[in-house]
Amino acid sequence: MIDLKKEFEKEMGNDFMGEVLFGEILSKHSGLATGGPADIFVNPSDAMSLKKCIMFASGKRIPVEILGGGTNVLMNDRGFRGMVITLKNFNMIKVINETSEKVELFVEAGMPLQRLLNRCAEKGYKGLECLAGIPGTVGGAIICNSGSFGQEIKDVIDSVVVISMSGMIKKIDRINIPFTYRASGLDKGLIVLSANITLERADPQEIRRSISDYLARKKAAQPIGARSAGCVFRNPDGDYAGRLIEEAGCKGLKVGGMEVSSVHANYIVNTGDGTSDDFIDLMKKVEQKVLDSAGIRLEPEVRILGDGTKK
Ligand SMILES: Cc1cc2nc3c(=O)[nH]c(=O)nc-3n(C[C@H](O)[C@H](O)[C@H](O)COP(=O)(O)OP(=O)(O)OC[C@H]3O[C@@H](n4cnc5c(N)ncnc54)[C@H](O)[C@@H]3O)c2cc1C
Repeated sequence: MIDLKKEFEKEMGNDFMGEVLFGEILSKHSGLATGGPADIFVNPSDAMSLKKCIMFASGKRIPVEILGGGTNVLMNDRGFRGMVITLKNFNMIKVINETSEKVELFVEAGMPLQRLLNRCAEKGYKGLECLAGIPGTVGGAIICNSGSFGQEIKDVIDSVVVISMSGMIKKIDRINIPFTYRASGLDKGLIVLSANITLERADPQEIRRSISDYLARKKAAQPIGARSAGCVFRNPDGDYAGRLIEEAGCKGLKVGGMEVSSVHANYIVNTGDGTSDDFIDLMKKVEQKVLDSAGIRLEPEVRILGDGTKK
């Protein structure tokens, strides 16, 4: 068993800029507020420090997971035996090109999605309004191809810049990213660093109105303020997971502190002291009930960080 702290400090020397924590409790970074300690938790300040972390982990065969806002992942109650990297410091927006009709933006992956929307509303950049109320970061939204009301983030993407586990940085044009429903299709080992997106120029008032409308619709239908990981299951072809779960009588179903939301049945909310194990048990119960009542096996939308299995 290597002493990670000692090894990290020895290898990085003064080259690493950013924050490094050993045994950081992941529940602090989880929308569900669950999860145990990560062996190493790093928050690099720049691309060179990020690359050094990746090379350190690759060289020592330490598993790596990327964390955005933690709003669509389930963290193991026993934590993660590896390195969790967060890109919170990668949060720049820059105008690349602007005409009277369009604007091309460069956005870094750690930028909170709602901060980007606010900036766009302020400046009169239209095209992201349907993402109003979706928590998390730009990087997470790209990996999950997040969307709402029939639109997805892929609709505005021109290209993304990624770094691989061997430290190679490359640009991938939109046409080469195999986006599907709630997935980017990018290779598992790739870390999204930034994206170029194109939006339309429009009246800021109109954009703000549109954001408020989407937000109101979302608040009416989803448990926005509760601790959750977003939709638990993917919608099966031609149907809605929430409808199937509600019809199977699961609203209000509980395991420990986790409960199927009474607002939207495809959300599991942490009512207080719920754990990730409770979440997994409740997911299994819901899955079985829907299978029994509708004959459909639901697929998870929530991603599991590291090894999500039980002890
Ligand atoms: C109340 C609530 C409402 C929601 N509503 C919606 C909705 O309407 N539509 C929707 O699509 N989703 C919704 N979600 C789910 C979630 O917020 C989105 O999918 C969000 O975009 C995830 O972003 P994140 O930064 O939190 O990603 P995380 O949860 O941190 O990560 C998600 C996945 O992306 C990976 N990842 C994150 N950043 C990077 C990166 N830079 N490079 C490589 N991999 C990365 C992680 O490893 C993980 O596999 C909702 C969630 C909540 C809690």
